[in-house]
Amino acid sequence: MIRRGEASSRGELVARTGLARSTVVQRLDLLAELGLVREDGTLPSTGGRPGARFRFAADAGVVLVADLGATHCRLAVTDLARGVLAHEERELAIDAGPGPVLTAVRTRFGALLRRAGLDSQAVVAIGLGVPGPVEFATGRPIKPPIMPGWDGVPIGPFFEDFGAPVLVDNDVNLLAIGEHAEAWPDRADLLFIKVGTGIGCGIVAGGRLHRGAQGAAGDIGHIRVAGATERCRCGNVGCLEAVAGGGAIASRLRSQGVAVEDARDVAAAVRAAEPTATAAVRDAGRSIGEVLAGTVNFFNPSVMVIGGDLALAGDDLLAGLREVVYRRSLALATRELTIVPSRLDDGLGIIGAAVLATEAVLAPERIDALAARHSALHDAADVPAIAEPAR
Ligand SMILES: [Zn+2]
Repeated sequence: MIRRGEASSRGELVARTGLARSTVVQRLDLLAELGLVREDGTLPSTGGRPGARFRFAADAGVVLVADLGATHCRLAVTDLARGVLAHEERELAIDAGPGPVLTAVRTRFGALLRRAGLDSQAVVAIGLGVPGPVEFATGRPIKPPIMPGWDGVPIGPFFEDFGAPVLVDNDVNLLAIGEHAEAWPDRADLLFIKVGTGIGCGIVAGGRLHRGAQGAAGDIGHIRVAGATERCRCGNVGCLEAVAGGGAIASRLRSQGVAVEDARDVAAAVRAAEPTATAAVRDAGRSIGEVLAGTVNFFNPSVMVIGGDLALAGDDLLAGLREVVYRRSLALATRELTIVPSRLDDGLGIIGAAVLATEAVLAPERIDALAARHSALHDAADVPAIAEPAR
């Protein structure tokens, strides 16, 4: 509540939580000793003694984040409130394999820390996004189609030197987490649909990311479009990705004489009002809408955010998509449904990774674990700080 600005004094916390004042006082003392909140002046007096105002200490530690794409990556050091302290973007081909790629990321993390005037002692968590399916509990990519050599490789051990927990997720989930935190914090149920070379969906349900039992939730790219006959790289026929993915559209347009290589080129052609490309993207929007209409009936989201390279085509993609979703979904499910393009720029994956990492570090269970260690060591001089993670 202090982080979100919902309460900043003992009195407000008592009123908002219903906890006993003594509990709130004890909890605040602990958070202050862990360096996570600090007193910051007093609130205007309402009669009695003026109450202390508390603020979240976003500088109590930093997180290292990386968003790895097919051919390039973004890296950053952020504070615990997603404030970027240092960042860079560079070419890095994911198909070079886990050894070369993760060694490069580790080296650049060190350089970014130095640029921010910090050392690895300050690092409390590491968050990484990769362009493929991830078994979240173990941080291993599982049969990632565009990541040869990565299948089943645990990513965490590459970053052992930093002595901090490592969280790995697929890129679409990070986009969903980032968009939700930055643009729609008050909407509990959100779908982020990434339409790039492939098509995927990140699901925020009840305010939390929904990964499913194995981490495969949201893989809408391989849902069948009715009547479609295109063969998909997964071996099935008529998958949404084979019909409406940026890669599929680009190759269809090439066969019709339009010079496009990938999803970005297709979007650029639409923005330049190339008629064949525009018609193809509108059709793609309708096919995506058909699949999304089913997810709307099933999941009843309040926001659907459309991002990815093909979304750069703008209104032509959204028009076809909206048309079908509103026509094919139940009236109750669409009454308050918002369908919008992503509000954020290319840095969204980094924001999502920072949210993933900081939420893990600041999770109640982790604070409780630190608290238990803290009380066990209470009389010792060695009081654990948040920047020295419990193992
Ligand atoms: Zn498929």
